Amino acid sequence: MSPRYDVAVIGAGIVGSAIARELSGQNLTVALLEARDDVGDGTSKANTAILHTGFDATPGTLESELVRRGHHLLTEYAGPTGIPIEHTGAILVAWDDEQLAALPTLRDKAEANGYHHCEIVGAAAVYDAVPNLGHGALGGLTVPDESIICTWTVNLALATDAVNRGATLLTRHRVTGIEEHESTTALHTESGPVTARWVVNAAGLGADHVDALFGHSRFTVTPRRGELIVYDKLARRLVDTIVLPVPTSRGKGVLVSPTIYGNVMLGPTSEDIEDRAATATTEKGLAFLLEKGRALMPRLLDEEVTATYAGLRAAIDHSDYLIDADEARRYLLVGGIRSTGLTAGMAIAEHVLGTLAEAGLDMAPRANLPEPPRMPNLGEAFIRPYQDDARIAADPEYGAIVCFCERVTAGELRDACRSTIPAGGLEGLRRRTRVMNGRCQGFYCGAEVQAVLDREVPAR
Ligand SMILES: Cc1cc2nc3c(=O)[nH]c(=O)nc-3n(C[C@H](O)[C@H](O)[C@H](O)COP(=O)(O)OP(=O)(O)OC[C@H]3O[C@@H](n4cnc5c(N)ncnc54)[C@H](O)[C@@H]3O)c2cc1C
Repeated sequence: MSPRYDVAVIGAGIVGSAIARELSGQNLTVALLEARDDVGDGTSKANTAILHTGFDATPGTLESELVRRGHHLLTEYAGPTGIPIEHTGAILVAWDDEQLAALPTLRDKAEANGYHHCEIVGAAAVYDAVPNLGHGALGGLTVPDESIICTWTVNLALATDAVNRGATLLTRHRVTGIEEHESTTALHTESGPVTARWVVNAAGLGADHVDALFGHSRFTVTPRRGELIVYDKLARRLVDTIVLPVPTSRGKGVLVSPTIYGNVMLGPTSEDIEDRAATATTEKGLAFLLEKGRALMPRLLDEEVTATYAGLRAAIDHSDYLIDADEARRYLLVGGIRSTGLTAGMAIAEHVLGTLAEAGLDMAPRANLPEPPRMPNLGEAFIRPYQDDARIAADPEYGAIVCFCERVTAGELRDACRSTIPAGGLEGLRRRTRVMNGRCQGFYCGAEVQAVLDREVPAR
């Protein structure tokens, strides 16, 4: 007989992991099914990693409400879990008269979204905030609460918390079919069937395909590719705040931002494509970014590039998040979480819990929940193990640097291989420790990292 749960959540990105965590805080048995061999290996690993305030959302939408709430929830959750956040603030820059004229409307929109801290400033204040900005800025709008965050740690913390609370994580469980029974649904996966009373579809780019398994044809996911360039840590002195463009109907536009790992990022592009796996960068995309960067911050282009990457937003033909419960079939869809899901994930989970309760899923909060997990710090602005004398004295492995670009130690690699959700490969180690994420991209340390993995996780 297949394992049976109260709720099966499909997709272990930030959204699915947050939902599994929230549900496992109730007296429910929860399974978190993921097609890949690790959590956080989809869109949630490749974004611009900004904790949004929601100042520029469309007022009155569910997205506006959940981004605002998510900003609050994730900021609170970062405390006990140690998810690194830097409260850099942002400045939105107007480069022509039309954009300058749009600033009051943007401020009003922020107010309508419940965000009351935006201020319109003149060109002098813009250059005070970002002295290395290119010529021609006419004015700006400050957004003091936009922040930078580690998207990898967010995903891993939420999934780890869910597992600690009793959820069962089932990786390599791509859902390929369903079989509905009177009070349960059997999900067919490549690793065998899983049965649940309720199914939550948080499959991101695959959400429309899973929705179709339940007989719906209400939306189509169009991958919207965003390419980014990451500059070397020596560029970090050029910019201390997030520099935003005036948003357009196609999205938030190309920004320059410090990263939580101490680099500077330029991007993303915004291009609708067909291939849901096309996460390689393109010559055209990078050329476009360089052209934008030359105008935004010419000095940035003199710096060395550490890496380029691309992520795919799950854009849909619907102007808001599409969260809908089908009571009769005990099925809930979470679709269209395009460019704000890192921020909104925890609020989406809270909303899903309420929707499921309204739809008739019996539940009550569990007593004695474990404390949230304390995650390893990947933030450059905070103490890392190689800087921590007491920690090194207690365990010399934290003094043994393996990755010299990112200063990742043998102790951190070991811990990542032995954690609640252990790294199963090099990419998993990168997301848990920053290893191979620096200038050499693993050229110097790759073999040693592989050796640690072979030693720690021989039966992969
Ligand atoms: C370029 C870019 C920049 C962005 N910038 C920001 C930002 O600054 N701030 C912000 O808040 N948000 C940002 N976002 C959006 C954010 O990254 C996403 O909204 C969020 O990661 C979506 O999470 P998810 O869990 O819905 O999707 P995913 O992370 O893609 O997770 C879905 C999971 O479902 C799995 N899956 C799919 N089909 C199946 C199946 N049939 N069976 C089992 N599993 C399945 C996938 O393998 C995947 O792991 C950005 C996105 C992009 C692309």
